[in-house]
Amino acid sequence: MDNLSEKISDLRRSWGSRVLILAHHYQTDAVLQHADAIGDSLELARRAASETKAERIAFCGVRFMAETADILTAPQQRVYVPDTEALCPMAAMADAAEAGIAWKTVTRYGGGPDAWRPIVYVNSTAEVKAFCGHHGGWACTSGNATAAFRHALDDGRRILFLPDEHLGVNTARTLGIPDNQQAIYDPALDNGGLSPQTLDTARVVVWKGYCHVHTAFMAEQIAAVRKRYAGVHVIVHPECPTNVVALSDESGSTARIIEVVRNAPPDSIIAIGTEARLVRRLAREQQGQRTIIPLQDSICPNMSRNTESKLATLLDLWPESQCVNVHESLREPARLALERMLAV
Ligand code: SF4
Repeated sequence: MDNLSEKISDLRRSWGSRVLILAHHYQTDAVLQHADAIGDSLELARRAASETKAERIAFCGVRFMAETADILTAPQQRVYVPDTEALCPMAAMADAAEAGIAWKTVTRYGGGPDAWRPIVYVNSTAEVKAFCGHHGGWACTSGNATAAFRHALDDGRRILFLPDEHLGVNTARTLGIPDNQQAIYDPALDNGGLSPQTLDTARVVVWKGYCHVHTAFMAEQIAAVRKRYAGVHVIVHPECPTNVVALSDESGSTARIIEVVRNAPPDSIIAIGTEARLVRRLAREQQGQRTIIPLQDSICPNMSRNTESKLATLLDLWPESQCVNVHESLREPARLALERMLAV
């Protein structure tokens, strides 16, 4: 154990169960070795919601995840981040004011506000989650987007989904919504760039946002891997573009990708389209049992901002500036949207 790891272990010991370290799968191995729980967005949200003992949570991920933990934990529990600049560019692609304009726009059509439900991807700011909660909406992750969409559609609702276009369209397709009943809302354009006729017909309207880590995957990479490895199974994250998902054998959340790899028959060859650190870790774990190939090495630089050194400083000093405090006015409506998600 090096000095830094020792320092973190000592600090952990001194805090005992009063401190909990949560880490997302896209973190570096150096950070993950210190985590009490590792998971994807859904697993970490569930862990935060069920956490009752820890006074302080050190959240190693990006800001929206720490905000979610802050919303779901009790007021006296405090959530801290190792680096306040670890942000998610996709979450920044929609703010509450723009979401309000979109909501007013779409609900002028297709039967009015009662005929629509906003669904917000958990990869969003607390204010956008609060906006959705306030309008009777749900949050979802890539692991339960299909269930959240199905619930709305079964209720006879049309859906405004934000902020990820690709997860929205891929989920709508999974549920068999024809392309002519889907529309992409561009917040930079008047009326989202959509005609009244399109909005009257659409059952699913998705915000034009994206994750640059997952839009790096391309159809040609799948063609190349299929050519090189006979019988390869291709699995990609649903934040990937629709044509990439269509050419894959399946798409799934981070938790689903891990499950597929671990349950695959021995000697399987699996090509994965998601964040590279997770793929490399799975490749190491499966060495000698299954062959794991990245479709491309695509790293999330925002997740990389958390380092072992910053985690050590956090556990030592707990700077107030690194405490995530979701504003009181947002907590309740955002919690509503998240609790609807956790109940799925
Ligand atoms: S992988 Fe994509 S969605 Fe996830 S934090 Fe990074 S930029 Fe955001």
